[in-house]
Amino acid sequence: MFNPGIYKGKKALVIGAGRSGAACANLLAAKGFEVLLTEEKEAAAVKAGLKGLSRRVTAETGGHTRAVYGCAFAVKSPGLPHSNPLIAALKAKKIPVFSEIEIALAFAGGAPLLAVTGTNGKTTTTTLLGEIMTLALKGAGRALVCGNVGVPAAGSAAGARAGDAIVMELSSYQLEDSSFIKPAVSCILNITPDHIDHHGTMAGYVKAKERVFKFQTPEDVCVFNSNDPRTVKLAKQCRAKKLFFASAGGTKGLNAWTRGGKIYFKAGKVSFSARPPALPGAHNLENAMCAGLMALAAGAAPAHIRKAFAAFKGVEHRLEPAGTVRGIKFINDSKATNVDSTLVALKAMPPERAAWLIMGGTDKGTPYAPLAPLIKERVKAVLTIGTGAARIERELAGCCPVITSGTMENACRSILALGAAGETALFSPACASFDQFRDFEDRGRKFKAFVRTLK
Ligand code: ADP
Repeated sequence: MFNPGIYKGKKALVIGAGRSGAACANLLAAKGFEVLLTEEKEAAAVKAGLKGLSRRVTAETGGHTRAVYGCAFAVKSPGLPHSNPLIAALKAKKIPVFSEIEIALAFAGGAPLLAVTGTNGKTTTTTLLGEIMTLALKGAGRALVCGNVGVPAAGSAAGARAGDAIVMELSSYQLEDSSFIKPAVSCILNITPDHIDHHGTMAGYVKAKERVFKFQTPEDVCVFNSNDPRTVKLAKQCRAKKLFFASAGGTKGLNAWTRGGKIYFKAGKVSFSARPPALPGAHNLENAMCAGLMALAAGAAPAHIRKAFAAFKGVEHRLEPAGTVRGIKFINDSKATNVDSTLVALKAMPPERAAWLIMGGTDKGTPYAPLAPLIKERVKAVLTIGTGAARIERELAGCCPVITSGTMENACRSILALGAAGETALFSPACASFDQFRDFEDRGRKFKAFVRTLK
């Protein structure tokens, strides 16, 4: 656990000048530490982080100097592997290495932490939970939404005042790096294989996720997905009070389930139903059930949950409506950077074959074959783009017609030429974006902008 009192007047080292590293360096400087920010990349590659840096922080880029070893503790950027030579050297010298999250929480004035993790659905659930908590706190306090959602905890949670609640999205990387974290309410949405290259093995990835409840005690709460065997297995090791949701199967042992288009909640003495947010797919029902249960555990009332559900429009680039052109509905699912996400998107499409699927980008090496059954059932044609096109075409051959399109723009034009009113153009690439775009956000925005020009 990071205890600032122990390190008073000592030097702090922050490794990595990304946005969270810069925010953490600024926070430590504001708290009176002498801070060295060290970055192996050249300054030009980390311009955004360096721009907002306090003058009290010393920064070095393009490598690390010996000064790094003069620090009493270090803070690690979540992207760096533990095998990184600098991390290994610090550990060998017994210099403690903390995560940005635990530094931020050490200055959060004891505000309750509501922590969301899982393989998929974190940002959607965190955003919705933040909106419920904003209503529940009614201006007496703020819901500080931060973490992996793109808002560094060091710039947000660390400013918590009495009455606030911290709503934090946690990736497996951030959890793995945290020596101690004790949320008042946590969850594990689901666990499927991901980031194995970083964690080494599936067991390593699951162990990182488990840290979200590892230090919780019986007065805390953890929410689990009863349909996900890996999270059910993990729940057995959890000492916090457990709440379960499921989007399929019976209602036995559940605290949230769905029936007849509604979500039913039953936790302690509270029992009520709510209309889910107007978002496609069973996965979004799961996100809503999880956010609802977490909010209930944090003191929200049914009315707050109902109101936030009714107003929630989802998060950009996740099955986001991008406009209708000549009766064809364009959907931006640029966040689908892996095969699993595209599978989820296909599950949310109507069973009749009315979808045109635009796929491709930087290939990640995972098989596309798991998409074949749903493509056969729901997709009129796959339109491939980017450098990953050839492998997609090979692996999906015979499932449905494939149209090699090269670019997203060509694919959209083909769909307009071949499609009919009432059909859907689904941009759910199943690949990373770096071959043709800056990132998935850039890809999604360019898609939406192009669809607007077609209208
Ligand atoms: P994360 O922050 O974990 O990446 P997001 O909320 O950004 O999650 O959603 C990313 C993608 O993951 C979505 O586009 C969708 O394909 C898929 N997804 C979202 N929620 C779930 C869920 N509960 N279960 C499975 N997949 C999901």
